Amino acid sequence: MSTDQADTVLTGTLPVVALVGRPNVGKSTLFNVLTRTRDAIVADRPGVTRDRHHGVCRTFSRPFLLVDTGGLSEFEQELPKLAARQAEAAIVEADVVVFVLDARDGLTPYDRQISQALRRAGKRVLLAVNKTDGLDEDIASAEFSELGLGEGLALAASHNRGVTSLGEAIVDALPPQGEEASDNDPDRLRIAIIGRPNVGKSTLVNRLLGEERVVASDEPGTTRDAIRVPFERDGRRYLLIDTAGIRRRGRVDDAVEKFSVIKTLQAMEQAQIALVLIDAHEGVTDQDATVLGHALDAGSALVVVVNKWDGLKPDEREQVEQQLDRKLAFVSWAETVFISARHGSGLGELMKAISRAHASATFEFNTHELTDVMNLAFESAQPPLVRGRTAKLRYAHQGGRTPPRIVLHGNRLATLPESYKRYLENFLRRHYRLVGTPVRLEFRDGD
Ligand code: GDP
Ligand code: GDP
Repeated sequence: MSTDQADTVLTGTLPVVALVGRPNVGKSTLFNVLTRTRDAIVADRPGVTRDRHHGVCRTFSRPFLLVDTGGLSEFEQELPKLAARQAEAAIVEADVVVFVLDARDGLTPYDRQISQALRRAGKRVLLAVNKTDGLDEDIASAEFSELGLGEGLALAASHNRGVTSLGEAIVDALPPQGEEASDNDPDRLRIAIIGRPNVGKSTLVNRLLGEERVVASDEPGTTRDAIRVPFERDGRRYLLIDTAGIRRRGRVDDAVEKFSVIKTLQAMEQAQIALVLIDAHEGVTDQDATVLGHALDAGSALVVVVNKWDGLKPDEREQVEQQLDRKLAFVSWAETVFISARHGSGLGELMKAISRAHASATFEFNTHELTDVMNLAFESAQPPLVRGRTAKLRYAHQGGRTPPRIVLHGNRLATLPESYKRYLENFLRRHYRLVGTPVRLEFRDGD
């Protein structure tokens, strides 16, 4: 959810693009170039665990989900068997496979093996011939045409060369865009329920649907589509985007298990708000923090839902609460609710937190008031001098919604220290009581 209109337009399921190739050809370099976020504010904050293998590329005319299959398994050394298995795993899920090759090494036996696997699967494959910097591009790519997978696209990922052409070729190769889902009713709040396996996602879905369960509108087509279930509660209409109910497509192995991140990202993309479930009996795990990192990247409104709050002794509860404070400090703006999906307790609080988060994410700021509030922030705590001079605010306005984007205009604002920028964000949050959504502050000088 990154555009201003995102709360009324459903983008459909994000297509999946897999980067495949043997180690060291430059997959992760390419991955980083393609998924690099435009947004400095999303930059790493302490405690965020980043997943360097799954990301969304929004640079070209259509967004797509990119998966770097390299390093997805712990058995890195087990080559070439692994390379073949990775290719297989990627093939299962991907709409397009980008097969990355190393122009300096030339064609190797591993490459041939991967190529065979790809050809058998009959997927759309693009050849990316990397590390062509300092080489003749035509000669470098010609060698790989013998694979029978078409023309190679010359690339130098680490020099950001050829990346735009590759991106455009990827978008051209994607299957046609699906219809907008028929249940995309703007009055329904779309909620994704996400979290690692066994935290209680299915139990919560069933609990929320209760007796009123409507037959799941399990859309035909690819089985990786999340199941979308409309429901009503207290007169409000919702659409649950359920990642738990997703069936596996075809035969999979353990490497593919990791691909569930794909469902999470796709569900988040379709939703206006994400419920990130955590299992109180297990505590906050690294995987939970990674899921939250994805939510941060997506700019999602979110509620942290601590499930299985039943059956815990008071000291155990206290322990979980301390852990939440410590490990999830990077999303301190998110509300935490404690529920038992099994017993149905805490759901009222959960629904309230959902509506507060949604209200915050879609809030419309009045420019005058916003400017006054930000001026007050500057007066309440003088900004530190920037090269001996004071930063000055002229005015502030809203640049977008979901999540709110606040643009501050003035002098020497951009170079304010991070700590002061965070103070400004917190001041804004307190004044407007914004919870459950990221807020992005942008600083523009001298215009
Ligand atoms: P992966 O194992 O396939 O993910 O490969 P990496 O992205 O980790 O890259 C392996 C090495 O190749 C790193 O040292 C990169 O800096 C280097 N590399 C990546 N792309 C290029 C490129 O376009 N040109 C050159 N000369 N080196 C590159
Ligand atoms: P999912 O993989 O995230 O969909 O998790 P499930 O909904 O399948 O739940 C995993 C396990 O946790 C099941 O055995 C559930 O019965 C159990 N469970 C789910 N919610 C609760 C809860 O609130 N309290 C307790 N004690 N167990 C729960």
